[in-house]
Amino acid sequence: TVNAESGEIVIDNGEFEYGDIPKDEIRFDGRTAIVTGAGAGLGRAYALELARRGANVVVNDLGGARDGAGAGSASPADQVVAEIREAGGQAVANYDNVSTAEGGANIVKTAQDTFGSVDILINNAGILRDKSFVKMEPDNWQAVLDVHLKGAYNVTRPAFAAMKANGYGRIVMTTSAAGLYGNFGQSNYAAAKMGLVGLMNTLKLEGAKYGIKVNTVAPIAASRLTEDVMPPDLFARSKPEYVAPLVLYLCSDRCPVSGNIYNAGMGFFNRAAVVTGPGRVLVKDGEDPSPEIILENLKAISDLAGGKEYRDLNAQVGDALAAFQAPAAGA
Ligand code: NAD
Repeated sequence: TVNAESGEIVIDNGEFEYGDIPKDEIRFDGRTAIVTGAGAGLGRAYALELARRGANVVVNDLGGARDGAGAGSASPADQVVAEIREAGGQAVANYDNVSTAEGGANIVKTAQDTFGSVDILINNAGILRDKSFVKMEPDNWQAVLDVHLKGAYNVTRPAFAAMKANGYGRIVMTTSAAGLYGNFGQSNYAAAKMGLVGLMNTLKLEGAKYGIKVNTVAPIAASRLTEDVMPPDLFARSKPEYVAPLVLYLCSDRCPVSGNIYNAGMGFFNRAAVVTGPGRVLVKDGEDPSPEIILENLKAISDLAGGKEYRDLNAQVGDALAAFQAPAAGA
């Protein structure tokens, strides 16, 4: 639930307080998980660990090149499925392209036909096509948007429908520090990755009454996407297995939060959020605001002290309207 006063999320722990959270194992028995781009890197680590903890896993991977080029190959997904089965787990491979609506529908259908349901979806498939902005041709822009943002839409839409019908769901989006904070040469990727945060923000609201929780991870991990962009010492410390625990927790029935963003990498975890400052009303007795008034008040309107994290649009608009009832000091 959301505290309307503070905009803070109020976590309902059920019968226990944070102090005495049971230390029992987090399991996924009887749950079906889809992991896109699970033939390598982070997705592979999520798929292996979910299966080890009892989940039925759809291992989706197109098997293309790092920039998304090439016809693709079944082998990465097949290899992960073989690893899961050798360890005694349940998994099925799927080679569909998340960039197409048919691909997304077929990934979800694979889960339903093989295991009977979809409880968990990790939108993880990704490619990179880095270029400084003027050199960012439309095809490099579009290819990255298509896999990350449209890809998540294509798979999440049918999965969300199934979860709604079941009254249970866990969805994890994959953003990036490049999107949250910016990174030179990644305009396409940063835009797509922040698009996923916007998608989460709406789905957390639309899913709330159906038991669907939607959260986002910004991982840091050694993979083929980062082998040449990460300093070698950082690369060595960044196992995908150090990101997986957070993502598995967000996928579990123990997860009480929805709409949160977490950084995870190297065993370090923290939460990132959009914070909005208290602001100031700058209309004085019939006098319209002007650019000069903004200039004069830039410090006050930029101040984040006493800022809030809003959980939906209405809460923010409500505070903006309330600001007229109680003009800020000095206004
Ligand atoms: P990776 O290249 O090892 O794995 C990505 C997988 O996605 C590949 O196996 C690839 O074949 C698959 N894939 C690509 N396009 C696909 C498509 N259209 N349909 C289906 N599968 C497709 O990379 P990774 O580092 O494990 O990245 C996983 C996710 O994490 C990506 O979304 C990436 O942007 C994100 N991410 C990674 C890091 C990091 O430090 N590694 C940082 C921030 C975000």
